[in-house]
Amino acid sequence: MKKTIKDYDLGGKKVIIRCDFNVPVQNGIIKDESRIKASLKTIRYALKNNAKIILMSHLGRIKTEEDKQKYTLKPIAESLSKHLRKKIIFIDETHGPKLEKAIKNMKEKDIILIENTRFEDLNGKKESNNDKNLGQYWASLGDIFINDAFGTIHRSHASNLGIASNIPSGLGFLVESEIKKLTKLTKNPKKPYTIILGGSKVSDKIGVINNLITQADYILIGGGMAFTFLKAAGFGIGSSLCEKEKIPFCKEMLDKYSDKIILPIDVITATEIKENVQTNERFLGEIAEEEIGLDIGPKTVEVFKQYLDDCKTIFWNGPLGYFEIKAFSNGTKKIFDIIVQTKAYTVVGGGDTARAAVTFNYQDKVSHVSTGGGAALAYLEEKELPALSIINEK
Ligand code: ADP
Ligand code: MG
Repeated sequence: MKKTIKDYDLGGKKVIIRCDFNVPVQNGIIKDESRIKASLKTIRYALKNNAKIILMSHLGRIKTEEDKQKYTLKPIAESLSKHLRKKIIFIDETHGPKLEKAIKNMKEKDIILIENTRFEDLNGKKESNNDKNLGQYWASLGDIFINDAFGTIHRSHASNLGIASNIPSGLGFLVESEIKKLTKLTKNPKKPYTIILGGSKVSDKIGVINNLITQADYILIGGGMAFTFLKAAGFGIGSSLCEKEKIPFCKEMLDKYSDKIILPIDVITATEIKENVQTNERFLGEIAEEEIGLDIGPKTVEVFKQYLDDCKTIFWNGPLGYFEIKAFSNGTKKIFDIIVQTKAYTVVGGGDTARAAVTFNYQDKVSHVSTGGGAALAYLEEKELPALSIINEK
């Protein structure tokens, strides 16, 4: 078991909390504060226990000097200040005398927010390549390191792996809770267990497929990735998404797991991807050369329902159609309707799938929407995650 923030005596200590404040910002306005709200529990706990709190996060990608203006953490400091009803000392640099002096002058319950860790990427990708000296330097600013950034748990950066390599470490409440919820899927999930997979590409999901297929009873495949499988099964797919080089992989999976993999039997097609386009419902074998498959059809929804109704565990990654356009959003919405009516433990993960859950207002009706995107998938693949492994054991 990993140590958590609760395993440390925080009183008077300088506690570095690596948060995930990677929120959508447009012209200095935060468009969605959910990640900020999700970080408050850990920060409040550190406040209550009289820590000197040093917050760090990345935001966006920093490739040019201009990106710095776009991705400053200043708006995050204002948002945090509003939620915590407390002054946040924002330091507009990631290293240097100003930062060091501010930390030296800290009193208990003070909160400092350091500028975007990825500003260090302009200086030879020091943050993203886990530069040893940078990790050591940041660690030297604190006494204890708490990793509460689930969204980057699969990355080996100076601001997570680097710092944790140098000072005592533990997990924050957000990371602890994500792991607890996702572990229910990897360690003896309650059966029957069905996985729903969609999204655009097979190649993004090979690790997940390989790892989860052995644990699940059924895998229902929709979205863009279904078409490479359908092609591998010998069906015409018109102009739908197809990853030719992945056809052999799909064939192998279909042979090996013929009783587990369930493919669509009908799809919604159009000749263009745009609003108000004319759509057609096609059974397999009916898709014309110029047509693109953009959603699962109503008969497929009925088939998928049979594999979901009596489930005890459901994991869903990848929208089942091009849900950003209304005409192709029905499959995804209908499957949400079905899973929230089951008695199953339902977990939704993946950046776009989580976005679909919020867009169609199902985020509070499923058991868990992972905040992690790629991190959730990496965790479920049971890959080694160095930024997690490095955290001290109890
Ligand atoms: P996640 O981020 O949840 O892991 P992906 O990134 O794999 O999901 O895929 C999401 C994208 O897949 C969505 O933007 C959606 O429009 C697209 N998509 C779903 N079905 C299709 C399809 N049939 N054709 C093309 N794109 C699709
Ligand atoms: Mg995505």
